[in-house]
Amino acid sequence: MSELEIQQCLRCSAAWFPDRLRCPGCGARKWQRVPAGEGTVEQDTWVHRPPAPDGAPVRLGSIRLDAGPIVIARLQEDVGTGRRVRLDSGADGVVRAR
Ligand SMILES: [Zn+2]
Repeated sequence: MSELEIQQCLRCSAAWFPDRLRCPGCGARKWQRVPAGEGTVEQDTWVHRPPAPDGAPVRLGSIRLDAGPIVIARLQEDVGTGRRVRLDSGADGVVRAR
């Protein structure tokens, strides 16, 4: 588990997630990876029929990063709307808020 990284344009400084080949703001192809940093949970919900192998319900939130992008992530039970969080990315490809 490591901190989620997002892309940032080297021309206009726009940040985005998920990955793209070109900046959605100016179309430049030169970008760098930067830590996602902190964000705020804007909405949260339970998914009772998730694709998880164990079929257990999962809690998802939309997190507005301070850098701009919105990221959908799994939430721990004590994390809800309005809470400040950081995002981790696991080897399983799942993004988790803490
Ligand atoms: Zn750009």
